[in-house]
Amino acid sequence: MIEHLIINLLVILVPILCLQFVLFEKNTTVNRTRASFLFQVINAGVVLVCMTFPVSFSEGVFFDLRYVPLFISFLYGGIIPGCLTAVLLIGYRLFLGGEGMIIAVLFTLAAGLITSSQYQTYHLLPIKKKLKKITGMTLGITLSKLLFLMLYLALFHSFSWDMEKTVIYALYPLFQTAALIVVISLIENIRYALNFRLQQSEMLHSVGQLAASVTHEVRNPMAVARGFMQIFQKEKYIPEDKKIFLTMMIEEIDRAQMIISDYLSLVKTNSSRIERLNVSELISSLRSVMFPYALLKGVDLVQKPGDVIHVVGDPVKIKQILMNIIKNGIEATPEGGTVMLSAFIEDKEVIINISDTGIGMGREQLKMLGNPFFSTKTSGTGLGLMASYRMAAEMNGRIEAASEIGKGTHFKIVFPK
Ligand code: ADP
Ligand code: MG
Repeated sequence: MIEHLIINLLVILVPILCLQFVLFEKNTTVNRTRASFLFQVINAGVVLVCMTFPVSFSEGVFFDLRYVPLFISFLYGGIIPGCLTAVLLIGYRLFLGGEGMIIAVLFTLAAGLITSSQYQTYHLLPIKKKLKKITGMTLGITLSKLLFLMLYLALFHSFSWDMEKTVIYALYPLFQTAALIVVISLIENIRYALNFRLQQSEMLHSVGQLAASVTHEVRNPMAVARGFMQIFQKEKYIPEDKKIFLTMMIEEIDRAQMIISDYLSLVKTNSSRIERLNVSELISSLRSVMFPYALLKGVDLVQKPGDVIHVVGDPVKIKQILMNIIKNGIEATPEGGTVMLSAFIEDKEVIINISDTGIGMGREQLKMLGNPFFSTKTSGTGLGLMASYRMAAEMNGRIEAASEIGKGTHFKIVFPK
């Protein structure tokens, strides 16, 4: 008999599994509404399946976990899905008949009324209080239903006890409550994960927009300063040996502007240029760009020789990804250490390795990589890796990191060949 309750429990989990599949495939608002509609429909169907596999007694009394999908409909769908599930439940219960019918219908109505009145306040509670409230409600409703049922049967029908009945009557309220707690915990977990994702993508979006406006504002004053320097360059009263400083200043401003345009092009994701790039050439050009920075920090920047490999993608983005990661490597490595660059092909994927002999990271820190504003540096922005992860994903690539504290870090940038 008890196995029927276990079947009930398994069936109750089906809508949650479906929800998981639909929601985590693509995270758009359209999908969210469709997913919740699908969830409610399946959930309503679950009521029927639960009631088809009850623990039943000769008096026409059925025990099953129907209140779980009913409560979920009211609490997570609202009045309309809740009422539809209730109507379905009552209709099927009337069809099944038996002595417990009237009590079952009355208590379904009561349960519906109580849960729907909770809909507003319920969603403001933290998860622990939600579970507490649900436990109280379910135990209250199921226990009072049992009490009424026993009274009703004792008054109007001959009602005989045996061992199995005693066990079921005692276990049923607990089983139902436990099932509801499990289901609600799962649903809340999924909702939490979804909201977390949404917050993150919103944060990314606003970071991108901020970056675009700031870089735009910075460019203008720089252009003005550059213009004046050019005027000074032509002045006769400035000695020639001092004019070289002006030339250097102009060059530095040009370099800064180039970096800013690179960043701007990162923000404008739609302006992507796709080219076939020679990876070793790319790495060696990056090495020469980053070499002065490594030298300043006393770190050796080494390129391992490899075969000629090509990758298809946006050159600006790939360069920016590699630059961010190489820069992090140099910054994490103490004087005398090495940052090693290499590339090879493995399983039809182009792999670019950037490993350093730096301070390394712990497991918690590794998990945080790519989150906006995560930085352990005093002057860090915590945006470099976030942008890199995003750009790699745009090119159907990915970035993997492995690290050991005190030993070093190994970044693997993988692109489809
Ligand atoms: P920022 O460099 O501005 O701090 P990033 O997004 O580039 O931001 O990096 C985020 C954080 O990841 C760094 O602050 C650092 O703690 C960690 N990190 C990244 N690369 C390495 C590395 N090679 N070794 C150790 N820690 C690293
Ligand atoms: Mg960085």
